[in-house]
Amino acid sequence: MTEYSVDYQGVLEEIQDEVRPFFGKGKNADYIPALAIVPGNKFGMAIHTVEGEEFLIGDARDDFSIQSISKLFTLMQVLGFEGVDIWSRVGREPSGTAFNSLVQLEYEKGIPRNPFINAGAIVVTDILASRSADTSRRIGDFYRMLSGNLSNRVDETVALSEQEHGYRNAALANLMRSFDNIQSPIPDLLDVYFRQCALTTSCADLAKAALPLACGGYSPIAHKQILTVRDAKRINALLLTCGLYDAVGSFAYTVGLPAKSGVGGGIVAVLPDHFSVAVWSPELDSYGNSLVGSKALELFTTKTGLSIF
Ligand code: GLN
Repeated sequence: MTEYSVDYQGVLEEIQDEVRPFFGKGKNADYIPALAIVPGNKFGMAIHTVEGEEFLIGDARDDFSIQSISKLFTLMQVLGFEGVDIWSRVGREPSGTAFNSLVQLEYEKGIPRNPFINAGAIVVTDILASRSADTSRRIGDFYRMLSGNLSNRVDETVALSEQEHGYRNAALANLMRSFDNIQSPIPDLLDVYFRQCALTTSCADLAKAALPLACGGYSPIAHKQILTVRDAKRINALLLTCGLYDAVGSFAYTVGLPAKSGVGGGIVAVLPDHFSVAVWSPELDSYGNSLVGSKALELFTTKTGLSIF
């Protein structure tokens, strides 16, 4: 099937029907109590083509917690700074461990494997904090610029919930501090990190916000070059190899798109020069990725024949 004959809306309707048997097989994140109470049978999906067309299904306009998908946008911000050497402080390899694992970090002297596991994202946020005042607001402003939606705000209940249960993230930050890989005061840094994870978004907004990765770094929403073509290529490579933690190999095998997931149940993926796609369903698989969302994306690339492979 060529791209020109794809009936995106029809494909979304088929997917919404075909994912039904998968509800109830996963489980909402419960280590952040505010996420545990979101109805598990929510499902939304949004496609935004580089030509500017939008296709939505189900709960595509409902707000949910962006969680780890925020790591993608803080990385975009940091790569936008002149002369930042992020790669001496964060690696570019898949971790093969859970997103919040401490084990590897001790062996590897406080240098996280990649910017998409929690430790790596905390370092990226630390770099951002060292370059800007009012970091939390800047992160929100950047996201709102890319999504074109001023109502994407921090959900204070989720932020507080993360703060109160953030023992592992505090452990990661302290361990990295002991290796001199964190510069900001840790309570301040964690506050910024929890607030970035507690941003609310919808599938429709997320698909728009990810468009620079499908458009050679250009945001058709903000009408602005956000990244160089080279950095857009590099981020897509990192997403493909590190975006879904220790399930990244299976995801590349079944879906075949660079993508980022979050424990709020969102996943965003792109096909460069074609589209961005966002899906949301809160029940997670054992790796912390949306179970129904992963299935929906597998159906999407299988039905359309559109993937990077
Ligand atoms: N805020 C979550 C955490 O720090 C993000 C994890 C995720 O979405 N995978 O644990």
